[in-house]
Amino acid sequence: MTPVTTEHPFPGLEALIPAHARLEHLAAGGTWTEGPVCQDDGSVLWSDIPGNRVLSWHPERGQAVFLHPAHFHNGHTRDASGALYACSHGERAVLKSTDQGQSWQAIATHHEGRRLNSPNDIIVAPDGAVWFTDPPYGLIQPHEGYGGEQEQPGCFVYRLDPSTGEVTAKITDMIRPNGLALSPDARTLYVTDTSRSHDPEGHHHIRAYPLAGDTVGAGRSFAVVDPGLPDGIRVDEYGNVWSSSGGGVQVYAPDGRRLGVVPVPEVIGNLTFSHTEAYLYIAATTSLYRVAVSVKGNAF
Ligand code: MG
Repeated sequence: MTPVTTEHPFPGLEALIPAHARLEHLAAGGTWTEGPVCQDDGSVLWSDIPGNRVLSWHPERGQAVFLHPAHFHNGHTRDASGALYACSHGERAVLKSTDQGQSWQAIATHHEGRRLNSPNDIIVAPDGAVWFTDPPYGLIQPHEGYGGEQEQPGCFVYRLDPSTGEVTAKITDMIRPNGLALSPDARTLYVTDTSRSHDPEGHHHIRAYPLAGDTVGAGRSFAVVDPGLPDGIRVDEYGNVWSSSGGGVQVYAPDGRRLGVVPVPEVIGNLTFSHTEAYLYIAATTSLYRVAVSVKGNAF
């Protein structure tokens, strides 16, 4: 007798993705897509940075332009109350919206009296602190912002204090900090460095920094991501790190072991777990994809 075996579509990810899951292509028409975030009504917003647009997709209503011009939004996130946050290359600012993205207010524009470079990606920690990265991609890439001089002495990871609004540089030893995510216990801050984007010898890794309240300890290399770059990342409820790359979603265990990959036919900019359904949404170059998952995303 030949035993009947069902091959899992994503070997190594059997515990994280159901066997029936397939990569679904949901929407097209972007140029370089980033920053997906899910809304309570089941819709997904994401950035088409060179198109200067925020797009939306809903399972019944389909695809639409949500915001144009969008002043080159990049990363998005939401907090526990459902407020939305955006990184704006064009405004060189972090923005917040309490009306589902109908209007946006700048909450961070400067650090020590100088303009930010071009905020890239963002998370809100359980204590309400807003953490964001500030590489210069919106300044040095004419199709991703309005240009301008870099005023900061480096590319830092910042913490915006929820009670005072003060912006403090917390990580200063990275070259191009980009995506970021927190472990479920909020004691490890993961940040990607994508300096290989403009330097063949540059970084394409995820660093892990111990976090205690607002104090960041010494970082270490968590995973080197290939092919391509680890742009946006997310962490699931068990602490696994799901990273964008040039060849799909690379998934790493909390100890840094690579578990497997969800192949995606386009270079990925960013990804996000839905908080209302068991899906991972993926913004990849021109398109929005999703894949069913059997884990929840870490809310942070
Ligand atoms: Mg990014």
